[in-house]
Amino acid sequence: MPKLSETKPKPVSMTTPTRDAKVKQKAKNVPQSARFLYEQAASGEASGREAIKVFCIECMGYDREAVKECTSETCPLWMYRPLVKHAHRKSRNPTGKNKDS
Ligand code: SF4
Repeated sequence: MPKLSETKPKPVSMTTPTRDAKVKQKAKNVPQSARFLYEQAASGEASGREAIKVFCIECMGYDREAVKECTSETCPLWMYRPLVKHAHRKSRNPTGKNKDS
């Protein structure tokens, strides 16, 4: 039996799946209702808003209603979570005036 120091490490490509392979594998475990959006976001074809949406839905175990009830108010995505009207979100333009006019 060879000593541990005598064994050759396997080439990385044989032991580490590519990101695409990991995404495809994960997509198989994403519920059908969120799979398309997950695949779009994971491939960079979704908008940032859509990526946040699927992230929050995944975070809540694919329970969309739970996203609405999320109590993690310190999460950086809390103010941006989907499926909720954010009346309390601060406007980026509190004066309401258009800078260009
Ligand atoms: S806002 Fe809530 S649901 Fe969205 S990622 Fe944060 S903790 Fe999860």
